[in-house]
Amino acid sequence: MKKLLILSGKGGTGKTTTTAAFIDFSKADAFADCDVDAPNLHLIAGMKGSPQKTHYYGSEKAIIDDKKCVDCGVCNQNCRFQGIIRADGRYSVNPYACEGCGVCMYTCPVGAVTMEEDIAGELALYWEERLFSTAKLKMGRGNSGKLVTAVKKQLEQGHDNEELAIIDGSPGIVCPVIASISGVDMVLIVAEPSLSGISDMKRILRTAEIFQVRMAVCVNKYDTCIENTEEIKRLCQREGIPFVGCIPYDEKVSVAVNEGHSISKINCPARDALYQVYENIKVYFI
Ligand code: SF4
Ligand code: SF4
Repeated sequence: MKKLLILSGKGGTGKTTTTAAFIDFSKADAFADCDVDAPNLHLIAGMKGSPQKTHYYGSEKAIIDDKKCVDCGVCNQNCRFQGIIRADGRYSVNPYACEGCGVCMYTCPVGAVTMEEDIAGELALYWEERLFSTAKLKMGRGNSGKLVTAVKKQLEQGHDNEELAIIDGSPGIVCPVIASISGVDMVLIVAEPSLSGISDMKRILRTAEIFQVRMAVCVNKYDTCIENTEEIKRLCQREGIPFVGCIPYDEKVSVAVNEGHSISKINCPARDALYQVYENIKVYFI
């Protein structure tokens, strides 16, 4: 199964809109949403049926047994993360601050603290008509890179004879993006023609280079700044990265997204331009 990953340096550049349209254009039967902090591909992809759900366990969290606790405050004094709080005269654990280091468990004089696995999110797998792997991280939990890896593993394990998988990556360049890039065959970067968009794109290019993954670039809303679009084209040319097209700003895109459907299904200039981007990237990938 070949994997095409769609990335952008930050949210709001049209990454998920591009992914959803590519799924329709390619008629891909396998896809995944690795934006585990704010997954929304399922809303546009029109998934039917109930997914198979499994808990995702992150780091351990401390639990204080009220019956054993003698309120000595030793755990509070030793926790470097302000993970132990005192309210109504009792000590308890703040799960959002607890880093799972276990110091409170080792220092509690009466053995009132235990460490327990924490449900940090939920994985979901749709496989009735099409294979779709996604997940959602719980508020305040870390390890999103580990969860992204779990989403991709779930996609690979569920895969039957699907030839192509399209993956919506995480925004930014940190841990979940690195986890998204690992093991894919090609990355399409959806750039924005702004100074910050160019800077974000350069950072993703450097990150993808480390993994020696093939890359291509397109610009969304290119007509909001032609000068910066030209700068992106020149940058791609200098670095030998295929530039696969420009998508114009189009109000119909926002209408389609707000109504929860892919722009592949509407008649508009952005849809036509995106289709051309899909055709262009096929030359390098499919
Ligand atoms: S496990 Fe570590 S971080 Fe969590 S409450 Fe105990 S000492 Fe603090
Ligand atoms: S160290 Fe143990 S006994 Fe003391 S406050 Fe913490 S949990 Fe309670």
